[in-house]
Amino acid sequence: MDLDRLMVKPGTKVSIQDFDTRYTGKYQDKAEATEKLKADLSRLQEYQDVLYAQDTYALLLIFQAMDAAGKDGTIKHVMSGVNPQGCQVFSFKAPSNEDLDHDFLWRTNRCLPERGRIGIFNRSYYEEVLVVRVHPELLERQQLPRSTMNEGNIWQHRFEDINNMEKYLTRNGVVILKFFLNVSKAEQKKRFMARINEPEKNWKFSASDAKERLRWDDYMTAYEQMLSNTSTEAAPWYVIPADRKWFMHLAVANVICTKLKSLNLTYPTLSDQQKENLIKAKELLESES
Ligand code: ATP
Ligand code: MG
Repeated sequence: MDLDRLMVKPGTKVSIQDFDTRYTGKYQDKAEATEKLKADLSRLQEYQDVLYAQDTYALLLIFQAMDAAGKDGTIKHVMSGVNPQGCQVFSFKAPSNEDLDHDFLWRTNRCLPERGRIGIFNRSYYEEVLVVRVHPELLERQQLPRSTMNEGNIWQHRFEDINNMEKYLTRNGVVILKFFLNVSKAEQKKRFMARINEPEKNWKFSASDAKERLRWDDYMTAYEQMLSNTSTEAAPWYVIPADRKWFMHLAVANVICTKLKSLNLTYPTLSDQQKENLIKAKELLESES
């Protein structure tokens, strides 16, 4: 798959319009993509096993999107084959009072994956430059010092802090991949209508989602700023076309597999002493009557 086309090159200025939400690469239909997805999911399972055994890297997957883009479904599909013991999913909703009593990276930092694990953030600290930017009253609630508010461009400072934090994590073995699931405004409406019209989907719909939709253009501007300022070599953003769910699942799985492959993960090798211990243990087992 041509992943370069989906990745935001560090330092480039992103215009969301340049990314086709209906793009499906060389795949014509779901049936064709399903075969490839199956193959990628089985590779992912193997990589996870070595990741866990090697215990050096952690993989952090961050998902951001407008409502109904398909975060939940993508996480469900892509992680369907992996060992639940090696995987952690955290969803970040509106912050609690305790969260607000801390710096804006506090609540997510407590949820970072341990070495050997895959950690998934369903929304993340990036909400701090998205919803909080679209609704400045949320920033007012954060009790920040006046000097921070007046110092200049608070969003630019947040981008800088995030980039530094992600670089720090990468240096410590946390491999970061970030996915913006890019759904079109028309497709979001279709999915909202389905949530309203089909009783078994009613639970997924909340009136506030329709209200946020009114701010679509402001969100797109915030996303463009986020993508332009925080896609780095250490932690790149991928803009995943989300109007065709089958392609979205395949693209995300493929990005993850490609990254894990590039790490050249290996099972730990034993020292001579450890090998000797194994032989001794074997002899002991064999000597049992
Ligand atoms: P989702 O919408 O992700 O599928 P959900 O519908 O189960 O999940 P919601 O109650 O909609 O959960 O919670 C997500 C909401 O929390 C979003 O509107 C999001 O913008 C908001 N949110 C997340 N992080 C923050 C933050 N740091 N500050 C303010 N609002 C936030
Ligand atoms: Mg919601």
